Amino acid sequence: MPPSPPTVAQPSLLEGLTEPQQRAVLCTEGPLLVLAAAGSGKTRVITRRIAHLIGMGVPPWSILALTFTNKAAGEMRERVETLLRGADGNDRRYRGLTVTTFHSLCARLLRRYAEAAGLKPEFSIYDSGDQWTLCKKTVEALEMSTSNWPPRSVLATISAAKNELLDAAAYAARAGDFYSKSLSKIYTAYEKALRAAGAVDFDDLLVLTAKLLRDNAQVRAELRSRWQYILIDEYQDTNHAQLVIATLLAGEPTGKKPKDDGEPAAPAAIPNICVVGDPDQAIYGWRGADISNILQFEEQYPGAKVITLGENFRSTAPILAVADKLIRNNKRRKHKDLFTSKHGGERVQVTLCRDEQHEASLIVDWMKRLQSGPESTPWREMAVFYRTNALSRVMEDAFRAAGVPYTIARGTAFYEREEIKNALSYLRLVANRSDDVSLSRIVNMPTRGIGEASMERIELHARQAGSPIYAIMAAMGKDRELDSLAPRATGAVGKFVEMVEEWTGGGTFLGSKVPTSLSDLVERVIKESGLEKMYDTQAKTSGSDADAQRLDNLSELVSSARQFEMEFDVDSDPAEFPGADVLMEGRKGDAPPLLSMLRAYLESIALVADADTVDPTQGAVTLMTLHAAKGLEFSAAAIIGLEEGLLPHSRAQESEDQLEEERRLCFVGITRAMKHLQITSAKYRTIRGVAERTIRSRFLEEFDPQNTHVSDQADVLSGLEGTTWVEPSRSARGAHSEPASTPSASNNGGFTAGTKVRHPQFGLGTIKSVSGGSQARAVVQFDGVGVKTLVLEYARLQIVR
Ligand code: ATP
Ligand code: MG
Repeated sequence: MPPSPPTVAQPSLLEGLTEPQQRAVLCTEGPLLVLAAAGSGKTRVITRRIAHLIGMGVPPWSILALTFTNKAAGEMRERVETLLRGADGNDRRYRGLTVTTFHSLCARLLRRYAEAAGLKPEFSIYDSGDQWTLCKKTVEALEMSTSNWPPRSVLATISAAKNELLDAAAYAARAGDFYSKSLSKIYTAYEKALRAAGAVDFDDLLVLTAKLLRDNAQVRAELRSRWQYILIDEYQDTNHAQLVIATLLAGEPTGKKPKDDGEPAAPAAIPNICVVGDPDQAIYGWRGADISNILQFEEQYPGAKVITLGENFRSTAPILAVADKLIRNNKRRKHKDLFTSKHGGERVQVTLCRDEQHEASLIVDWMKRLQSGPESTPWREMAVFYRTNALSRVMEDAFRAAGVPYTIARGTAFYEREEIKNALSYLRLVANRSDDVSLSRIVNMPTRGIGEASMERIELHARQAGSPIYAIMAAMGKDRELDSLAPRATGAVGKFVEMVEEWTGGGTFLGSKVPTSLSDLVERVIKESGLEKMYDTQAKTSGSDADAQRLDNLSELVSSARQFEMEFDVDSDPAEFPGADVLMEGRKGDAPPLLSMLRAYLESIALVADADTVDPTQGAVTLMTLHAAKGLEFSAAAIIGLEEGLLPHSRAQESEDQLEEERRLCFVGITRAMKHLQITSAKYRTIRGVAERTIRSRFLEEFDPQNTHVSDQADVLSGLEGTTWVEPSRSARGAHSEPASTPSASNNGGFTAGTKVRHPQFGLGTIKSVSGGSQARAVVQFDGVGVKTLVLEYARLQIVR
């Protein structure tokens, strides 16, 4: 039975909301789009709506909220709990509520409905490193060249196809030219290898869920009848696959008749789907996000209500003015006013500095002043944003040297360490014995006498038999084909198998020798595999801190497992809800508890994102990429590296669309700041050990001068040679508005897109684009060093004919 719609509002849940925000909270039935600017309370509206729905008696298990990061999901759940506890002191009322990310939701659903999705429930989730390994093997097995088909770019194409829901067969059907035909061969083989390893990659989580929902009427009906209310934050950054999943879960809007596919007649309901977002903050186009999802919501759901929230509650007026002026330069957008009723506030600081060291010390000093100043802004309310992770190192050094606590939001960094990846590979093998990539990684780590030659023979045999490597290893001794393996190798394989069988109770996870808990399992794996001893010996021999650290990291992994154990909430499994077992008859509880927990643990690790590691309770400055900063806010923020090639990034200058996305990224950074905003641009930046002259970001010229305070300190410190730089002639700003000074192609000395050029340092290249201004810039694709943006006037480029 669908729950009856709420009728009465609890006043406390509407407190502290503006009139339009209240409307958005109260309008619970039917499709709703909240289209509103940064910091206007969209996320707050979602949180209040959930609390309001539950407060009105809607069962929590019938609410599904999707956020962009796990961390945002956690915070939202907590906020809802607090709001409800405040209302009646009963804190169990939210149980069964699903607040999660698209990827986590999909992972859970695929496990729950593994069979219907064509998977084994123990499937592994491959990260980009595993994908790379598998893709490389695939290309090699096809006897194609990995230099013509580099795994990284092959995977990028496959990922783009998957986000468009093109599976290998659909891709093959479309492939016309040589490139796409060859790629389609790799795609097909890669998919086959993934499935053989019982694995899915990150994109598969979405693709396979979309397929499952599309093709399986029973699953679709079951989930639709469960989730009566769907809420999605940051909707502007959803991709096609996510749109399809949301649409299939929400149900067909009225007026559109579902296809006759045997689905039981659903009640003629209007989907209760509420999405919130801001097209000006769409920053994941490069990863397949599609801004038209939000722009076409009204078309998709005719009769949808649209609410806009005008007021910004986050930032001071000058910060908003700068953000507003900047984003107005995007031509493809609908303008929304950014306004605040908070007046006053300091101007945005733009500091031109000499190089990255100077930049880092300026930022650290600025933050120290804020911390010791009259407001005593705590470290945790400060952040530094940058376009690419490479920029963090120098900042880190400066914070460390100054004794300022800092933390880097790099979600996977911990799990990418060699020792952790090794331990996790053992665990993944325990959870899924078909996982050949994990097995190959650790089978001889530490060395146990299973050498490369033996492995090659075993792998070949596995390929011929169409069987996972582990199965072949387990059958050794009984298998004639492998009799000729050196007896030492056979013995070592036997011991390895015995060890894995002991941890898993021969796959039953029962018996006295099986670990008693997840943390016990992790601890035993680290010890009994020999990893601990190996790193211990290594640390003792080298005496280096880095090696000693590896042991600490392994202990930390045990702690993380223990923490997971304590926080693991069976109820949070979106597949657990009253009436969920229609399809589960007889299969519920199939997996032994330890195995279920291990799967959930590995899954949580696979789905960690950068922003998930931001911990506001820590008294530390957060360093993170602009992408990870989305949705967050800080009292004081710094954005570093406002230079051409960095922001906008050199890879994103090929089209106006990409440039607009870079501008939105800058806009997202600016709108994170509540009170203080510092922006820096260095005159020189060291790239691969060479200090290169930079060009100021064009975005700086687009800031509102009245609300910006520019301080040029680039030449304050002496000691750098060659600083005879003609300032981008105070004129750069004027030049843009003076058409007379915009050079035409002809006065760019013949440098136009497509021209082949030679640079004294970078060698041969081809001009991709030239943009005007008093200092015409050329984006050049060099054969050796990649893409660079150069000022024509200084670049000493020669045309090659
Ligand atoms: P973004 O686009 O960056 O995701 P958002 O629209 O989701 O922003 P929120 O994060 O929900 O905005 O809100 C921004 C800030 O304003 C938060 O600190 C929030 O608590 C506060 N806020 C929202 N609504 C109100 C209100 N009505 N009164 C006071 N503060 C509010
Ligand atoms: Mg938000």
